[in-house]
Amino acid sequence: MIKKLIGLSALIATSFTAIAAEVNVYSYRQPFLVEPLFNEFTKASGVKVNVVFAKKGMAERLQREGELSPADVLLTTDISRLIELQEKGLLQPISSNTLEEAIPAQYQADDNTWFGLTTRVRNVYTAKRLGDVAINYEDLADPKYKGKICTRSGKHPYNVALVSSMIAAHGEAETLKWLEGVKANLARKPQGNDRGQVQAIHQGLCDVSLGNSYYFGKMINDEKQKVWADAVNINFPNQENRGAHVNISGVAMAKHAPNAESAKALIEFLASEQAQQMYAETNMEYPVREGVKRSELVASWGDFKSDNLPLETIAKHRKAALKLLDQAKFDL
Ligand code: FE
Repeated sequence: MIKKLIGLSALIATSFTAIAAEVNVYSYRQPFLVEPLFNEFTKASGVKVNVVFAKKGMAERLQREGELSPADVLLTTDISRLIELQEKGLLQPISSNTLEEAIPAQYQADDNTWFGLTTRVRNVYTAKRLGDVAINYEDLADPKYKGKICTRSGKHPYNVALVSSMIAAHGEAETLKWLEGVKANLARKPQGNDRGQVQAIHQGLCDVSLGNSYYFGKMINDEKQKVWADAVNINFPNQENRGAHVNISGVAMAKHAPNAESAKALIEFLASEQAQQMYAETNMEYPVREGVKRSELVASWGDFKSDNLPLETIAKHRKAALKLLDQAKFDL
């Protein structure tokens, strides 16, 4: 008889005959991060984890494989990628009190098809030579920053989510004006990745950039990139109003998961205190589960207020965000 599994402690106490001996994961998240997590899960449950790592094409692959897909668990960064899987009907809802309790409502799908595991802030990095600044995303369009801003493509998912959150806060017309203002302030055509912008600040090409929080930690811990990080302050925008924009990395169960019970056990493990602690330490992200400590370095950046609008609401503006980025000719 199959017992209903509730959380890892129940899992350990359960006889493992109830669940499959293997679970298959498709992951956009990198091996250094997820392999230690899977090892711990296997140690506790006896369930072997098989992983396919990829940088793109997860939705296409799942569509191609259809009902015969071996995929059970899908791991990805960014809300837009989770929504894409959801919209294409490639996910199934997970009914789990463990997940409901571990993960704040704003970071999970209304229909329970996806769950956030970690959060990351879209920070504004400013050159130390500017001194201390209190900055809002809105300020990036202020003419005082003319020729001083560097960013990656506006259409990168991280920026699309930020633009979507601007639409949620201000509406489309205001956001278009904002995008045109930011574009007018750019020091160069959008290019490179988040860390490349901080490098550009270090080189004196610009003074202000957008970048995810964990990259600050990664640069500090990288021999070559530490000088880039040393050239900037990390700012948490919009602290006097709605709070900083936050995105997630998340997890979902594939529609045709052949090992659904094991998949659920693994997903619940990823939301456990133990796994959340590992995420915090290994990748310098913010654990989604309340009460789990940030890494020492991340904690040193201080507490902040985050925009508490549900990510699902923000994601609804995704198509409009892409349209406005085109209208503003942001990347051209
Ligand atoms: Fe990233």
